[in-house]
Amino acid sequence: MFELLTERFSGIVEKLKRVKRLDEKTVEEALKDIRRALIEADVNIEVIKSFLDDLKQKLVGQEVIKGLNAGETVIKLIYDEVLNILGEEAPLQRSEKPPTVIMLVGLQGTGKTTTAGKLAKWLKSKGYKVGLVSTDVRRPAAGKQLCTLAKTIDVPCFIDEEEKDAVRLTEKVIQKAKEAGLSHIILDTAGRLHIDQELMDELVHIKEKVNPSEILYVADAMQGQDAISTAEEFHNRVGLTGVILTKLDGDAKGGIALSVRKVIGVPIKFIGVGEKIEDFQQFHPDRIAQRILG
Ligand code: GDP
Repeated sequence: MFELLTERFSGIVEKLKRVKRLDEKTVEEALKDIRRALIEADVNIEVIKSFLDDLKQKLVGQEVIKGLNAGETVIKLIYDEVLNILGEEAPLQRSEKPPTVIMLVGLQGTGKTTTAGKLAKWLKSKGYKVGLVSTDVRRPAAGKQLCTLAKTIDVPCFIDEEEKDAVRLTEKVIQKAKEAGLSHIILDTAGRLHIDQELMDELVHIKEKVNPSEILYVADAMQGQDAISTAEEFHNRVGLTGVILTKLDGDAKGGIALSVRKVIGVPIKFIGVGEKIEDFQQFHPDRIAQRILG
């Protein structure tokens, strides 16, 4: 996870550690190295620009921070800037009146169903009573996959293979889930290979019916900047409250993690780091910044 960025930044940090005095040349060189690393990691170009502008502004006329040498001061400022683009930690919102409804949205194949199971297990481990609901009326296999997953973690799963209208189905299964006295309901919504109007309309109608506390976009980190533009479309149409980034265990360059918050304006809440149900973590910006900067 973030190997490329970590490797590039460790080179930059090593170089800077040896710097005793900050001069224009050192600053320019560091900025150039950082720019190259961020481009290589597939960070959004506007995000890179604002990252470097902010950093440069802080570096110009920078006094060395007490107790740190010049190079360490720059490293500290880079760390602060990485934290700035990752944003603050954003806990999961809860509805005042249970059940809290969490809608997972995204394209097919990004890991939405797997993530629904992972999130259910995570919530269960915190002591909540969780249920899983599939609102996919076109692919019965999707509902079956979700319920198989639910069985392995021992949480209830609600599907209705007879109902062919996604909004009506959602209403029905949410009612059943409420009757079961659940604190959290996770909706695994239908995905498509590409965005289409019908999918978006369906999601908007479901949202209007169930008033979810969270609408989380499940993004495949391997898809890089494409995932960001798709997320933007979902955000404009449906309104997202956060992102779950999957497949960070692969050789994803990680740029998407540094771009989402600034481009879409919503936080990353969780990350998927493997195929297994327990390969799931809350997103802690400070830990990620530390990881990237060694
Ligand atoms: P959906 O179509 O969006 O519901 O996607 P699925 O949940 O069926 O997942 C698609 C594939 O991605 C499956 O092979 C999952 O095992 C895999 N997958 C999901 N999350 C992760 C992850 O965090 N890491 C890895 N390596 N694979 C994942």
